[in-house]
Amino acid sequence: MTVRLLSGKPIADEIKAEVSAEVAKLEFRPGLAVVRVGEDPASSVYVGSKVKTTEELGMYSEHIHLPAETSGEEILAVVKRLNEADEIDGILVQLPLPGHVNEREILEAIDPAKDVDGFHPMNVGRLSQGQDALVPCTPAGVIEILKRSGIEIAGKNAVVLGRSNIVGKPMAMLLLQENATVTICHSRTRDLASVTSQAEILVAAIGRAGFVRGEHIAEGATVIDVGINNVSDTSQAAELFSEDDMPKRLAAIEKRGFTLVGDVNPKEAMGRAGAFTPVPGGVGLLTVAMLMKNTLKAAKLRRGI
Ligand code: NDP
Repeated sequence: MTVRLLSGKPIADEIKAEVSAEVAKLEFRPGLAVVRVGEDPASSVYVGSKVKTTEELGMYSEHIHLPAETSGEEILAVVKRLNEADEIDGILVQLPLPGHVNEREILEAIDPAKDVDGFHPMNVGRLSQGQDALVPCTPAGVIEILKRSGIEIAGKNAVVLGRSNIVGKPMAMLLLQENATVTICHSRTRDLASVTSQAEILVAAIGRAGFVRGEHIAEGATVIDVGINNVSDTSQAAELFSEDDMPKRLAAIEKRGFTLVGDVNPKEAMGRAGAFTPVPGGVGLLTVAMLMKNTLKAAKLRRGI
């Protein structure tokens, strides 16, 4: 069976082009504020890409970078200011926050109308009730990949591997909203392969390099790999990547010290899945595009458009 690779780039580009075209027609510039606390290198890369894309699409962006020792009260004061700032339509607090800060308290302080990450309980509740809501970007991006690739969701058996508030749970809710029959698996699920191998759509979001093997995948299933993990060991790489892919992977390990892999073993998925999102180059690219879409949506909703 030849597997269909579901590349994220053309879909992310399409969504960004749609946002940019809509922004150009507005009489105001939607604004996104990104708050980063501390020096986490991955957060720095993510925030940089969010700020750059916001500006490329013609929107206003504000990047607030606070030192790692900033107190919870000081972060709350920044959030309060952004809640009240008329030029700001979306507020994103980049996670993880330093250990001394109560993440939940900060996320709940964001005005739900500006909560472009969709993590506020008000938006989580709206999503679970099937009401219009600001929805977390990564699972929303997965739905876009499925729909824009012409993969039918309604009536399908969908299994979500992982139950985090950021990916797994909202993913399950969105698939349910699209009329899939949804099962959620987690670390306490018994005989995982017997459940996942029933999936016509399998979404993996557990944070374990190449955990999903051939035995977990039904022949011809659509496999969406949300995971982003580093692999630095060359013998582990040989277990994960095909012979064709290996030279590129080894070169990356040599150059940067690691290569990226998802939660699915790509070599084994290629032999069983009908369609598969690559890592890198799959779901990850949709996350920023969906953030842009959410910022535009928040701006329009807040201004009654
Ligand atoms: P979390 O660590 O918050 O959650 C992981 C989930 O996986 C938990 O529900 C956990 O179960 C479950 N799990 C862990 N190990 C197993 C196992 N052996 N068998 C079954 N279930 C297991 O991770 P996130 O949801 O935040 O992220 C998941 C992955 O997605 C990560 O690789 C992350 O980097 C990536 N990610 C990618 C994004 C993107 O833009 N593409 C954005 C966000 C995340 P339990 O609840 O029982 O502990």
